[in-house]
Amino acid sequence: KERDHQVHSLAAAAGAACQTYKDQVVFDKKEIVKDNGEVYTVFTPYSRKWLGTLNEFYTRAYPNEKYFRHFYKQDAVPIPSLPSMEFEDIAMQFPSKDLEEELVRHYGKTRDYPGQRGTSRLGVHFRFGTVSIRQAARISGPLNATYLNELIWRDFYQMILWNFPQVGEGKAFKPDYDRIQWRNVESEFEKWCTGQTGYPIVDAGMRELNETGFMHNRVRMVVASFLVKHLLIDWRWGEAYFAQKLLDFDLASNNGGWQWASGSGCDAAPYFRIFNPYLQTKKFDPDFTYIRTWVPEFEDFSYPPPMVEHTFARNRCLEVYKKALRGE
Ligand code: FAD
Repeated sequence: KERDHQVHSLAAAAGAACQTYKDQVVFDKKEIVKDNGEVYTVFTPYSRKWLGTLNEFYTRAYPNEKYFRHFYKQDAVPIPSLPSMEFEDIAMQFPSKDLEEELVRHYGKTRDYPGQRGTSRLGVHFRFGTVSIRQAARISGPLNATYLNELIWRDFYQMILWNFPQVGEGKAFKPDYDRIQWRNVESEFEKWCTGQTGYPIVDAGMRELNETGFMHNRVRMVVASFLVKHLLIDWRWGEAYFAQKLLDFDLASNNGGWQWASGSGCDAAPYFRIFNPYLQTKKFDPDFTYIRTWVPEFEDFSYPPPMVEHTFARNRCLEVYKKALRGE
């Protein structure tokens, strides 16, 4: 908002017209609201209205070629080298821009298994605009409703951030949750960041993130729940760490994901839903394919014991949350 405001002021000062266009989302700001004009804060009714409003107009490509002649033109300048901009070349794989039809078709069955190649890995492209969100919605819609539903979650969080900008400024969407007495033990945070918690699924996720800049969605939910609920570390610490590491980092979705995990979000997991990392493993990585990739030593003596016992951590979390929500 600040950047756009500055550009508008600059243009106005120079006597130039300045127009802005929606680009990053299918529906923005207040395009999808309740019949009475109020903004949605719960996902399911929002998604119903979103789907009911969608038609061919909203997903077709903008005919921008015809405006090219209005654009400022100049001779090409040499492209600056990476070192001249103080960047370094690194050996990190950049995900493909293809929206694979077969993958999208089976997405509902594969998307929760981090050991499989079951998600599109397009997050980074949507975030930087190198793949069009309208094109993705147009192609995926007829192939798989679950995939399209995830694109709606993305629009939903962008819409929430626009209408409730305080969430991006460190505030819980539900203010009661700002009373939680976090433990915030730095040495424990360090173990979480480096993947040394003694919970293989958590450690695998954090190591995947540290090494590749990506983490599978199911595991993002598990590691976030673990940090906030098992360790009682402020979700804002986790949010900041993800922001630093994720290639697909996006303020709206990251904040939405963290507030979902901590229970403080608009349409969040209830506070008493505390993921059991072992059950999550049994369900979503039953043969340890994912864990073995990132924590090959997980069955050795060298692997650390769990840093906190699950049932103890669960009960401690419930007490702290209840106290905060009772206003004590
Ligand atoms: P796919 O499963 O192929 O999904 C397709 C696209 O749908 C994604 O690229 C993304 O744009 C969108 N999408 C999928 N799930 C969600 C979701 N839950 N919320 C919003 N959009 C979604 N997503 C980000 O793009 N940036 C973030 O910074 C981010 N941080 C997160 C933090 C936490 C704690 C959690 C739980 C989730 C976060 N997500 C974030 C959402 C989700 O994990 C990623 O979008 C997804 O893992 C990206 O992988 P993919 O491209 O293979 O997704």
